[in-house]
Amino acid sequence: MPRIRSLKGLEILDSRGTPTVRATCTLASGAVANASVPSGASTGAAEARELRDADATRYGGRGCRKAAGRVSGDIHNAFAGRDFESQDALDQALISLDGTPNKEQLGANAILSVSVAFARAHAIELGLPLYEHFARLLGQPIRALPRITVNLFSGGKHAGGQVPIQDVLIVPVAAPTIDASLVQVHAVYQAAVDLIARKYGMRWLTADEGGLAPPAKNAEDLLDHAVEAIEKAGLKPGTDILLGLDVAASHFYHDGEYHLGSDRLSSNGMIDRLRKWSKQFPIVSIEDGLAEDDWEHWTLLTRALGEKMLILGDDLLCTNPERIRRAIAARACNALLLKVNQIGTLTEALESYRLARSAGWHVTMSARSGETEDNWFSDLAVGWSGDQTKIGSVTQSERLAKYNRLLEIEADRSDA
Ligand code: PGA
Ligand code: ZN
Repeated sequence: MPRIRSLKGLEILDSRGTPTVRATCTLASGAVANASVPSGASTGAAEARELRDADATRYGGRGCRKAAGRVSGDIHNAFAGRDFESQDALDQALISLDGTPNKEQLGANAILSVSVAFARAHAIELGLPLYEHFARLLGQPIRALPRITVNLFSGGKHAGGQVPIQDVLIVPVAAPTIDASLVQVHAVYQAAVDLIARKYGMRWLTADEGGLAPPAKNAEDLLDHAVEAIEKAGLKPGTDILLGLDVAASHFYHDGEYHLGSDRLSSNGMIDRLRKWSKQFPIVSIEDGLAEDDWEHWTLLTRALGEKMLILGDDLLCTNPERIRRAIAARACNALLLKVNQIGTLTEALESYRLARSAGWHVTMSARSGETEDNWFSDLAVGWSGDQTKIGSVTQSERLAKYNRLLEIEADRSDA
């Protein structure tokens, strides 16, 4: 049974240069592991709370010294020398030490860093690859590796807000492996780089997740450009590559209306717009097509488009079991976007995952816009047999760390 010898927190910087937390967990067996946690920018209102220093003289108040201090202080003091028979036991102890409904006391960032560092140290102690350890936590063998969904164009909060929707993603559906998918994605991405240079005279500049952020007029233009880039890469839109959208509609919903560029749309108007796009373009999934609390219309959206495509809840669900239960009862969506840091521990994320599966939902495992070079995300995506991953684009090392880990796992598993 793993016994914790020590826990240590460190404030590090994420891919936006904003502080985040890394925890190092040392077990009595000598197994040592660390884990770094990501952070969102386009966050849902129901997410667990990160602890930030609120010291305006450092990092605009977003420092994580307090959160790192909680790991080395409160959590270390409570856990050092204790045995934890399972991940569940560790996570329950974190939840009760925190004692708040949204993890604001210790900070969801501090809590998650310990949850994942412990999992990794435990996997080392057991001599298991991390993905295999995660599969055992779930209690199911690994199925196929997830399909990658890759950010091609960015708008909204991850770019300059030129286009209100957040991501246009490409989804390679015909390639049999991650390795082959990445070859296609690279070709489409490069075709898109050339296309925006031609159309907008724009050099290659990227948004937070590495997507291209041209000053397009509207979402339709971005979708057109995506189709054109797929064709220019010698691939077939709708057969080889489909499109996904993260509308992130919560962020342009004000006073009961969707402010989509210069349009002001009612909820039904927004549903009509999504229906229109899905007729015009080869769209396979729509994430956060409506705002996080527009519950009744989510049900209508799922009724309208859910037979044909994935209706993914991100801000709607916040990986929160209570919200997922409500969404299942209301038939509000048919797929979960799972982000572990929205809820704060592996055990609660697992509960969310199981609930989604029990309703027959599809699961997309998602990274955040603020990421680090850590790659535990990929082990989790494989270990829990996510149907899809959403990591961002195929540029920037914090994204590539995850794609490269997927390649490594794919190679390991095909050797086995
Ligand atoms: P975030 O955005 O990580 O900035 O919250 C990602 C998303 O909305 O899917
Ligand atoms: Zn989203």
